[in-house]
Amino acid sequence: MSGGLNRRIASTLESLRQRDRFRQRRVVEPAGPGLARVAGRDCVNFCSNDYLGLAQDSRLLRGLDVPGSAASALVTGYSPAHAELEEALADWLERDRVLLFPTGFSANVGIVDALLQRGDLVACDALNHASLIDGVRLSGADKRIYAHVDVDAARDALAAPCEGVRALVTDAVFSMDGDIAPVRELVIEARRADALLYVDDAHGVGVLGPRGRGVADELSQDELPVLVGTLGKALGTAGAFVAGPAAVIDYLENRARSQIYSTAFAPMTARAALTALAITREEAWRRDEVRNLIAHLHARLRSAGLPVPDSPTAIQPIVLGRDSVALRVSDDLLARGFLVTAIRPPTVPEGAARLRVTLTAAHTTEQVDGLVDALATSLLEARVA
Ligand SMILES: *Cc1c(COP(=O)(O)O)cnc(C)c1O
Repeated sequence: MSGGLNRRIASTLESLRQRDRFRQRRVVEPAGPGLARVAGRDCVNFCSNDYLGLAQDSRLLRGLDVPGSAASALVTGYSPAHAELEEALADWLERDRVLLFPTGFSANVGIVDALLQRGDLVACDALNHASLIDGVRLSGADKRIYAHVDVDAARDALAAPCEGVRALVTDAVFSMDGDIAPVRELVIEARRADALLYVDDAHGVGVLGPRGRGVADELSQDELPVLVGTLGKALGTAGAFVAGPAAVIDYLENRARSQIYSTAFAPMTARAALTALAITREEAWRRDEVRNLIAHLHARLRSAGLPVPDSPTAIQPIVLGRDSVALRVSDDLLARGFLVTAIRPPTVPEGAARLRVTLTAAHTTEQVDGLVDALATSLLEARVA
């Protein structure tokens, strides 16, 4: 291997280790809805994105047959299950059409890159997901980052001089903070600037809104022409989709490279996602349960004298500041039977390391009580140490 690259790798790893930034996956064994086994120890999983508790629901295994799609969708990878899933999603979201993607990351990269080009202008929330950032970078459009959820700043960003197309791209629910973009106001600003509005609702689809459709419960296709969602979070499986007007979907089918040049996810994943979607539509109690657990967590944190996250969603970050404190508290929680990963920069800003607690319909109030008690003890010990 190249000597220069060897040195780059060694110095990067060394620097990550020194700064407590070295990251490693650990094997997490599924142990039932809301539960996991880590290093032989059973724990409550408070850091999955399985908001409705469907990822380990045995009903999703019914009728699974074909394990591989064997090609990209444009070649032979588009099965009846995929077609049925696209139709079911379009019907549910009240959009003309839906196009599936292998993952949410590849969807955002491929779609932003296909829609925008050099000479265009794109306004981006400062806390947008990495996949949106990479899509914008790849597109070559002029990027204007506006202050997080700040509508005035978004308006200013959209007003910059530009000869090409204007667009505003944002997460609906911010993945590390759990707060929500002011989408109604952003519709108005986008219209005023004749700009495309593009919303990534990875954490809202299936769990937020009166009908559980996330931002689609609030905005019509007319107001929001490009809506991206994932199947790997509330819908418990894997893959992603974009929903919108027929012409936009036709265009993306022909131009989104991450869809054209990538193997479609498995037909059995599409089948499982169809079951998950049917359950999501039928079992509204799952969304109510998440709401109850959020209120319960907030009440318990308040009475324990701990900070209460300013988040109305299943993502409930406990910001601790220093990386080393977040790591120590996370390790300590695991020893007490609660799996909550520490999130460190660059995923979150410097000095804002946190525990990203997530709730799912599979949790009980007793498990939340246990988490808050363990957190209170661990924090006390971490501060004393
Ligand atoms: C998780 C996530 C994605 C990526 O989706 P995957 O299907 O996991 O690749 C995209 N956008 C946001 C906001 C996310 O949180």
